[in-house]
Amino acid sequence: MKKNTSAPAPLKLYCSIFGHRYEVSKKVTFHVKEYTCKCCKKQLTTNSNGNLTELTPKFQEINSILEEMYMRRSVRSQEKSLSSSIC
Ligand SMILES: [Zn+2]
Repeated sequence: MKKNTSAPAPLKLYCSIFGHRYEVSKKVTFHVKEYTCKCCKKQLTTNSNGNLTELTPKFQEINSILEEMYMRRSVRSQEKSLSSSIC
């Protein structure tokens, strides 16, 4: 039987004592980001209320949709500014 642990116990202990050390791992949109703890690799994301919440598979799905929409919108706005500068 293999035990499935996401992080070594000492690091988890460190986080529980000193708190997680989150850094931005992915910028989804202008105000939605994903954060990963440098110690235990726990992931957080910004939810629709602007608060931080655990990055569950459901939120990963939402973020990937948001990211796609955001990318498309930014590409479109770039094209627009490009064509207007040509004219
Ligand atoms: Zn942590």
